[in-house]
Amino acid sequence: MKPIGIFGGTFDPIHFGHLRLAEEMAEALALASVRFIPAGTPPHRTRPRTDAHLRLEMVRRAIAGNPLFQLDRREVGQPRLSYTVETLTDLRAEVGAAQPLCLLLGADAFLGLTSWHRWQDLFTLAHIAVAHRPGFPQSTWKDAMPEALRAELERRMAHPHDLTGCAAGLVVTRPITALDISATHIRDTLRAGRSPRYLLPNAVLDYIQSNHLYLPEN
Ligand code: ATP
Ligand code: MG
Repeated sequence: MKPIGIFGGTFDPIHFGHLRLAEEMAEALALASVRFIPAGTPPHRTRPRTDAHLRLEMVRRAIAGNPLFQLDRREVGQPRLSYTVETLTDLRAEVGAAQPLCLLLGADAFLGLTSWHRWQDLFTLAHIAVAHRPGFPQSTWKDAMPEALRAELERRMAHPHDLTGCAAGLVVTRPITALDISATHIRDTLRAGRSPRYLLPNAVLDYIQSNHLYLPEN
């Protein structure tokens, strides 16, 4: 059965680094679809400054027209913290025990995984696909990784075609087109009064400008 890709993030704002990750993972892992799940109030990082509904709308515009990409609104508008493990539990209940799910992560997110709520349970709910990211070279992953995570990685390391054979529990790592783009850099660029054009879709940049997001500091 083709895995369903699950791609969470703050997407503050969504950019071409995110979109290429989803596109290349969808191709390499033969995903049935990719569900983009913008975070409401993520517990493992500083609270995003941009309202969740605005971040959700930027994702909607960015993925419009791609039949494989879907927007999942479940974490937005929730009054409580959204933990990935809970979101995956809900998704698992919806799709059934046999459907492979695959959590898509950039290398930086994977390296921080042991700080996530009930991180070891993530492997019982989904596979994890880790995309390389500039600034986090694979040669240094093992040194940067907590011992417990390294042990899981070594135990669960698999090939893309293995993911169709079981519902959860494997880890794959993939090089993708290296795009050194981050939402932090885009926010800083806008706040400095400079243009982030060509780092993110025009439809997203138009929305940012019409809603006066990430305004230059006075
Ligand atoms: P911020 O700078 O605000 O942290 P970000 O660009 O890192 O934003 P996030 O919303 O934090 O974007 O990331 C969502 C997911 O996308 C994470 O798993 C992250 O590792 C991954 N990701 C983001 N940008 C890239 C990129 N350029 N290459 C590979 N993975 C990326
Ligand atoms: Mg980030």
